[in-house]
Amino acid sequence: MIDIQAIRNDFPILQTTVYGKPLVYLDNAATTQKPACVTEQIVRAYSTMNANIHRGVHYLSQQATAAHENARQTVQHFLHAKFQHEIIFTRGTTEAINLVAFSFGEAFCRQGDEIVISGMEHHSNLVPWQMLAERKGLTLKIVPFDDKGELQLETFEAALSEKTRIVALAHVSNVLGTVNPVKEIIEVAHRRNVPVLIDGAQAVPHIPVDVQTLDADFYVFSSHKIYGPTGIGVLYGKESWLNNLPPYQGGGEMIATVSFEKTVYNELPFKFEAGTPDYIGSTALAAALNYVGSIGLEDIAAYERELLAYATEQFATIPDIRLFGTSERKSGVISFLVGNIHPYDMGTLLDRQGIAVRTGHHCAEPLMNLLGVDGTVRASFAFYNTMEEIDRLIAGIKKAVAMFV
Ligand code: PLP
Repeated sequence: MIDIQAIRNDFPILQTTVYGKPLVYLDNAATTQKPACVTEQIVRAYSTMNANIHRGVHYLSQQATAAHENARQTVQHFLHAKFQHEIIFTRGTTEAINLVAFSFGEAFCRQGDEIVISGMEHHSNLVPWQMLAERKGLTLKIVPFDDKGELQLETFEAALSEKTRIVALAHVSNVLGTVNPVKEIIEVAHRRNVPVLIDGAQAVPHIPVDVQTLDADFYVFSSHKIYGPTGIGVLYGKESWLNNLPPYQGGGEMIATVSFEKTVYNELPFKFEAGTPDYIGSTALAAALNYVGSIGLEDIAAYERELLAYATEQFATIPDIRLFGTSERKSGVISFLVGNIHPYDMGTLLDRQGIAVRTGHHCAEPLMNLLGVDGTVRASFAFYNTMEEIDRLIAGIKKAVAMFV
């Protein structure tokens, strides 16, 4: 059971008032707020152990190196990866996908090959593959979803061919909220020896993830969406794949030896971490993951399911409401439009009532085209949200609607 009041006290920003009203923060799919233990860790790390890591012989450098590598181990346990060196720190989900698209593309893709993604991908899991396709003369195949916003296994399987080199897919859609059947999809792809990258940006804050049970080849996420700092994220890759991919960037850290004639690359994970790593951010991310672990993702998921069920019930009381994404396997995201009200107007009127939601295409323009809209309003929940906040959202929407009639 979640002690919601105790949790809210851990997040100082939730006490903010906006235009004189208590903040209702429902933009968690864009970024989450930070508990005090995360911001305190950032201050503590800079105040007590700041020194560039790896190779330093002095005390502070060794402290910082140990903290950074401990953070890697925390991520390993969080994802249940087999080896610590399968965890690569990146700037976020976007950089992690770019890394794989570049390095995998260099090693394994030839003209005429195919890459399979779905119609509900964030630009981050679309544009890097498009760039690879243009560079190498590949075809990008898009798997459509049905009216509920679900991917059907048969449709997915039909998109695979002898030429498919990799599948890249969101675990949870940032617009529709759909939780995709990634384990089954990975199984189908593996039967044809096709590796799968899972974009877990919207999954890890809400669902326990075990990369070995999923048998994912690559799994990526961003720290800032799971209560950690901005600017750092994670690429998990199976050792066998990572060992066979060339580096993404060159520079310090990623080398074993360098001469003017030739460079020998470092071993995993350092081969993929050129330059000074974010050793402060990694320890703050570890603090966030430990915090989430202390509450328990199972309990978080159960509470967020209650929030979503209540919100869905309440949304049904709004006349002329259109919901986008109605799967039973859904995370705490509600994308909607009311009548002809422009999403931007709805977002602005809600903001004036202290309610933060996101409006627009949510970095998924092709998905908006498939839905036949320019944009939506999106409310997205975290475990610090309450039923009362949902009541305020619904009342806020009804008030906004009343201003248009
Ligand atoms: N993938 C999904 C499903 C997302 O929701 C997001 C962010 O909204 C991203 C990728 C990109 O994450 P970042 O901007 O942290 O790299």
